[in-house]
Amino acid sequence: MPSKPLQSIRTVPQFGRHSIGLFDDQSILFALAVARDDVQNDADVAREFHTNYPDWSKHTLPSWKEDEPIPSNTPIDLRDWQRGQKLLRDWLPNVARFDRLMPKRRTEVLYAVNEMLSMFDSHGSLFIGPAGLEFRSDSGGESVLGLCVRSMVRFMVPSDWPPSRLGRCANPKCKQWFIRPPPKRGTVRRYCSDKHANSARAMQFRRRKKKEAATK
Ligand SMILES: [Zn+2]
Repeated sequence: MPSKPLQSIRTVPQFGRHSIGLFDDQSILFALAVARDDVQNDADVAREFHTNYPDWSKHTLPSWKEDEPIPSNTPIDLRDWQRGQKLLRDWLPNVARFDRLMPKRRTEVLYAVNEMLSMFDSHGSLFIGPAGLEFRSDSGGESVLGLCVRSMVRFMVPSDWPPSRLGRCANPKCKQWFIRPPPKRGTVRRYCSDKHANSARAMQFRRRKKKEAATK
């Protein structure tokens, strides 16, 4: 006997041009780039977007109506990036130790993130798609602020990316946020790159030599 088609409450809405995984690595890397000190204007944000999403067109859903053009030249609304940047800079130190926060602080952080998440309810819908849980933005497209807000979720719910994956480069000249590789036998990566680890070590070495010379 052929199986009965499953009943759905409603059909898939006719909007949703862009769909990205809710726990998308790319959106997190992009958000961390937006939080960087050297990202200071629209052009910087656009450059980081294209660097982190070279395959954005893959996230563009086929147009439901054939005569409806896909707005490929405006893949993301950049206008609210400053709000996203400010939020991330506030949130990151807390999110990076979310599992170790005092209950009161934890609730405050949860409240702040949930408040922002609810702001985007009307901008799209959650779907289960090829990338797992996905957020499909409506015809207004995706915005930097929305991406920044949702990028923090993965560190705050049980996932493969616990808060400790968020690292802040210990090189005093850098201090940028980066994603740590999964921990290996208790070693915690402190620098965003080998380059910054080496230059920080060289700096420490020089400082030590100077100190030694001064005490001689
Ligand atoms: Zn660094």
